[in-house]
Amino acid sequence: MFVCHTEEREVYRIGGLVSDCPPHNSREAYKGARRLFEEGIVGLFGPSSTHSSPYIQQVCDMREIPHIETHQNLNQERNDTLVNVYPHPRILSDIFVDLIEAYGWDKVIVLYDNDESLMSVSSLLKLNVPEKRKVILRQLEGPNDMSSQGSDQNYRPVLTEIKLTGETRFVLACSVEILKEVLIQLQQVGMMTNRYSYIITNLDMQTVEMSPFQYAGTNITGISMIDPDTIEVRKVAAELQRKKTNSDGFENDGSIAAWRLKLETALIVDSIRLFAETIYELIDNEEIKAKPLNFTSKDSWKSILGLTGMVKFDREGFRKDFNVDIMELTPWRTIESWEMEFFIKKSPPYGMLTETTDQLTGNDRYEGYCVDVIKELSKILGFNYTFIVQEDKVNGNLDKVTNEWNGMIREIIDGRADLAIADLTVTSEREKAVDFTMPFMNLGISILYRKPEPVPPSLFMFASPFSLLVWVMLGVSYFLVSLSFFIMGRLSPAEWQNPYPCVEEPEHLVNQFSVRNSLWFTIGALMQQGSELAPVAISTRTASGVWWFFVLIMVSSYTANLAAFLTVETLVTPFKNIKELASQTEISYGAKQGGATASYFRDSNVSEYKKVWKYMARHPELMTTDDDESVQKVKTENYAFLMESTTIEYVTERHCTLAQVGGLLDDKGYGIAMKKDSPYRNGLSRAVLKLQETGKLTELKIKWWKEKKGGGKCASKSEGGEATALDLANVGGVFLVLSVGSILGLIASLIELALRISHNARKDHLSFRDEFRKEMRFAVAFKQNVKVIKAGNSDPNDNQVMDPPNYGFKV
Ligand code: GLU
Repeated sequence: MFVCHTEEREVYRIGGLVSDCPPHNSREAYKGARRLFEEGIVGLFGPSSTHSSPYIQQVCDMREIPHIETHQNLNQERNDTLVNVYPHPRILSDIFVDLIEAYGWDKVIVLYDNDESLMSVSSLLKLNVPEKRKVILRQLEGPNDMSSQGSDQNYRPVLTEIKLTGETRFVLACSVEILKEVLIQLQQVGMMTNRYSYIITNLDMQTVEMSPFQYAGTNITGISMIDPDTIEVRKVAAELQRKKTNSDGFENDGSIAAWRLKLETALIVDSIRLFAETIYELIDNEEIKAKPLNFTSKDSWKSILGLTGMVKFDREGFRKDFNVDIMELTPWRTIESWEMEFFIKKSPPYGMLTETTDQLTGNDRYEGYCVDVIKELSKILGFNYTFIVQEDKVNGNLDKVTNEWNGMIREIIDGRADLAIADLTVTSEREKAVDFTMPFMNLGISILYRKPEPVPPSLFMFASPFSLLVWVMLGVSYFLVSLSFFIMGRLSPAEWQNPYPCVEEPEHLVNQFSVRNSLWFTIGALMQQGSELAPVAISTRTASGVWWFFVLIMVSSYTANLAAFLTVETLVTPFKNIKELASQTEISYGAKQGGATASYFRDSNVSEYKKVWKYMARHPELMTTDDDESVQKVKTENYAFLMESTTIEYVTERHCTLAQVGGLLDDKGYGIAMKKDSPYRNGLSRAVLKLQETGKLTELKIKWWKEKKGGGKCASKSEGGEATALDLANVGGVFLVLSVGSILGLIASLIELALRISHNARKDHLSFRDEFRKEMRFAVAFKQNVKVIKAGNSDPNDNQVMDPPNYGFKV
């Protein structure tokens, strides 16, 4: 018995025949209804059984008591006083028809437990169209299961029989009481794998704990009229939980109360509300007594928003314009409950033992890039995880002879852990054996080798700014220009000048552009030093201007290029790419044993790569099993290692003598591996994408590559950009030129002296040897700064006079 309060606080009684009527006992129901009428109820809802429904309805019709039904009524006929808040089975089964069509199933087996269930999906039979779609009905029946507690039916024989037909798509039409048991038995006979799909027609599907069936990736779809996320549903569910009623419609699980709210309970709440609201509406118009109300009008029932959505009726008293939620059991929704085991590998920076003096336990024992990625994924998806270390550090290689996998891939196939995360490359071969998430890191194969060594600077580096041809051209230009000055000087009258300006009419004129002076004038300009010569004629001035311009450009270019040559180190690598590496014999090379890099060369059709693989197959001793070993080999031997770019990046951040040579040979990624058709895949892939989009993966890469464990060590060296002082090796050639030039000058002066002495000796009939000795004695007598010229006496100590040296512009 329920009571309704109107605004005037009057109390109206409405009767319920839900739980107090034993099903199928129409007499009892009838009696119960009469009893309620005698107590003066103004409305009635229920009963819960289809069988007694017509009798109750008859009584209600007689007394004109409004009657609300809350259960599925297959035979419902519209009577004046009856409405049903449970949607008509035909409309519901049309939803399943639509679902099957949308999924494109061409064959479907309907498993039902009793006639009522079958009737509720009768519309499905119209899907049975020859040549297009087959619908097969199969009743779930079986002996009582003696092995289990209670009187559970054993459906296993019939399920096994169905399994043998090879069919994989089913509609499960059974009461909620046996639904869980049926699902468990389906699991027991092996029909709860990712191959199978089920549509569950019971509207209470959401009340059944589904997590045991989610791990295998079975596709389960159902519909629900209750949205557990609405505030109203949560409020009612919480209230019911608080009261801890023993109502059938509620299980005492507070945390998931909204999910556990049964449809029947929600419909009862809705029908009471509907009744109350309708009464409120009517009291304005009619006097309410323990007497029939005028519910006979088709539009008397109000529309309300209940726990099952909008409660509205059509003219026949059937529910109309209601919504249902389609629930697809996906791992994504329920991932929080996962407890996962991850394989990791001790291989820096992907997975390492945490460096600490504290005694650590559990997942804290490990750190690294992959450990952090899992931590971030678990934050998004809410799963728990445990790490297991893969001791042999092998990622996974397929033995083509035995067709057996090893390493992490093998562990995943054998189910020793759920997932594996490491520098595990996604390859087509591995993808056939296991599933991978979206890649969390992208990379390609490259070569790790010693850093190219700088070429020792050459002694004549100062000559490098110009090529030999330019130097030759410069020399030739110098002589030609000097010659042209000489010629122009002789031709230009202005260049013939009076050597003694005081003499107005000179006897002879002199020309400053002698051969020697022309050469001196040109070199003076070239060396940017100038000379005492000043061209006078227009021709020589024009030629000078052009020559100076030429010199300006040449000297500026030389200076600019010289700076670059002196500061930039020229680096030489014995090979620049894989092609050059493959075609030489001095440097040995290898890759990781059984790794994705080795497989890449093994399976490649490119001739150079085939050559590389042939070499590696011939030299198994050059293949390594561990990254540290490879790095040591590259550092200490003349050995190049074919490695993945991400690991090369990590190594070259810490070993400054090593570098990557050449670009990437391919483009691939690392993924998280899991069993084939694992239900974790979609959820994890989406979460990986999310980490990528939010920049978390980049952040983690910077942390583990450039910051932690000695990262960034080599960056300061190469990026310092400080100018280094030039040493003798850079500029030694200039000193050499200076020395040679000075020595040549000395020799020239000796020759000049010798020539002059020989000339004077011949003229004065003196001995060349004596004259030369005298001159040398004078030269080394550093205190003597004055040379006396004395005719006929060539001894400078005796103030001997010599011919004056040829200063000035004497021609
Ligand atoms: N990432 C590779 C793999 O998954 C290992 C390293 C390599 O082969 O270079 O096998």
